[in-house]
Amino acid sequence: MNLYSPKTIRQLKDKYGFRFAKGLGQNFLTDPSVPEAMVRGSGIGPQDLVIEIGPGIGVLTAAAAEAAGRVVAIEVDGRLLPILGETLQEYENIEVICADVLKTDLAQLIDEQIRTYGLTGAVRVIGNLPYYITTPIIMKLLEEELPIDSITVMMQKEVADRIEAGPGSREYGAISLAVQYYCRVSRIISVPKEVFLPRPKVDSAVLLLELREEKAVRVKDEARLFTCIRAGFGQRRKTLVNSLSGAGNLPKETVREVLAAAGIEENRRAETLSIEEFAKIADELTSREGSSWKTEA
Ligand code: SAM
Repeated sequence: MNLYSPKTIRQLKDKYGFRFAKGLGQNFLTDPSVPEAMVRGSGIGPQDLVIEIGPGIGVLTAAAAEAAGRVVAIEVDGRLLPILGETLQEYENIEVICADVLKTDLAQLIDEQIRTYGLTGAVRVIGNLPYYITTPIIMKLLEEELPIDSITVMMQKEVADRIEAGPGSREYGAISLAVQYYCRVSRIISVPKEVFLPRPKVDSAVLLLELREEKAVRVKDEARLFTCIRAGFGQRRKTLVNSLSGAGNLPKETVREVLAAAGIEENRRAETLSIEEFAKIADELTSREGSSWKTEA
């Protein structure tokens, strides 16, 4: 069965009475070169455990299963399970779980799979993500500090541009810093909207996020680093002295002192700061006795 052919997809839809649920971000791939590039780019090996998010009718699942030790695919839409039962029937190393990935205990799932199947390789997440929850999924994978080695995911091109961006660019923002804090980011492939059924309004891109052994910067208080980043970008047109004092409810004079101690000019804007510079500001605030950055109303 050629799962990439629009004709096959329509036949499966008719056979199982399936209708695309727009609200679940169901845009299925019709170009085999994309899963191939994702599997190759993520470096999946025969001892690896792959967790797939949103298998749809199973194109990426099947491609991953050819290379991996085991694939666990998490699909929220129960109507797709009988279809996956048919399309993936020849693979013995695939398990499909019907669940919302955002509500799934992934640490437990990974632990169980590794112990049950004695896998000795890497743990890799892949997926053509449902676009309405791209950022929550990525942040869940990172903030839960799961034992994963890489995340290879397709997303809306504009979101990929933001995640990859560096200081000084229009796309640079809190999401760039949040992801780059945990991962090395590279682009595997750009994907035009024409290769999906139904066709979405926007183009896509696949990013490879390789989890760092050490975070990009070491800070005294991680939560404060992200408070500073959010404060800076919350009002990105303002200078740092204004955005940080406004969001943190701190006297401007205190912020001026903090910025001076961190060696950062007070009239710079958040979009020009590297993660190392945000870390210096956060550490200066943390080390100031009585700093009310996080607690003052
Ligand atoms: N992997 C398939 C492909 O590339 O053709 C389908 C990708 S489609 C963009 C996204 C998939 O994620 C759909 O199958 C959708 O039902 C599923 N999905 C949506 N929300 C989900 C959630 N919260 N948890 C798990 N899967 C979800």
